[in-house]
Amino acid sequence: MLSEQDRVIWEEELAQFVPQRVFDAHVHLLDRRHLSQVEGAFLNWKDTDWNALQDCAQQLFPGRELHCLVLGTPSPGIDVESHNRWIAQQIQLDSQSRMNRLVTPTCKTVEIERDFAEWRFNGLKPYRLFSVTGDPHQCRIADFLTHSQLEFADEHRLWVTMHLSRYHGCADELNLSDLEEYTTKRYPNVRWILAHCARSFSYWPIRQAIPILRQMPNLWYDVSAVTDLRPLITLFQEEDIKRIFYGSDLVDSTFFRGKYVTLGRAWCGLNADQYSLRFPHCDGRPILAIYEQLLAMKHAAEIVGLSSSDIEDIFWKNAESAFGVKFGQGT
Ligand SMILES: [Zn+2]
Repeated sequence: MLSEQDRVIWEEELAQFVPQRVFDAHVHLLDRRHLSQVEGAFLNWKDTDWNALQDCAQQLFPGRELHCLVLGTPSPGIDVESHNRWIAQQIQLDSQSRMNRLVTPTCKTVEIERDFAEWRFNGLKPYRLFSVTGDPHQCRIADFLTHSQLEFADEHRLWVTMHLSRYHGCADELNLSDLEEYTTKRYPNVRWILAHCARSFSYWPIRQAIPILRQMPNLWYDVSAVTDLRPLITLFQEEDIKRIFYGSDLVDSTFFRGKYVTLGRAWCGLNADQYSLRFPHCDGRPILAIYEQLLAMKHAAEIVGLSSSDIEDIFWKNAESAFGVKFGQGT
């Protein structure tokens, strides 16, 4: 539910900024029955099916035509096969939405091939939490997306939504050299979406990496969950706007009151409801993190001087051409 302050921010700040058409390139659906008992106890995300996601989106963006790229929920111990099948069934409710198949290093290419033959998957969603090294924080891309899976993705020109691991994210030398090798030599047909501004929640990684990333072919970005203004300014200023997708990371990663705060080069999620924050000098009413992200996007767009056509590109036109989505068709 939106609070009174969320509504003020929507009506006074965001309603004029968010176009009538929105393609959200980063959302998660979850049916907790697919989690193992152990992992289910750790992951506090709620059940979110297609209808729940639409209800949430209509509260946040009233009246907008919205389609999504659904990514599944990358939780260790999840029943990958049941989860993927359930998502495929869920998104049949909207012919203009897309989905990436959740993949772990144990998924065999014959299984992936079978799913692509049966359902209309758009690409793959690997995740660092499944790394074969057992270390989700310092693993390399091929530790959680195997070379045989990359070969399959290359052969079929698939999209891969990649949340980079390693402490420096996109500024990490090994990540950069892996991406360079994969995009220019080894897997030139794979189309990468680097999630969360190439995992740059603070100003630093994207500033380091953007001169290199912008030279690489077949790279796109989603801006999901980035609530700091500075990485968005760098991305909007230094990258081709055609390579940027709007994404939200809804529901549980951004539908809370708070934001992803930065402290120097570090960052962490701050849920205001979990702390007794004091606001001695102002009317202390935190807003939803997704509205924080949209405010940051709006201010970055103003500072960089993006046109309304650039903003339409980010919110839906880039996705329309990338994923063959048609707006204005009904579902
Ligand atoms: Zn996500």
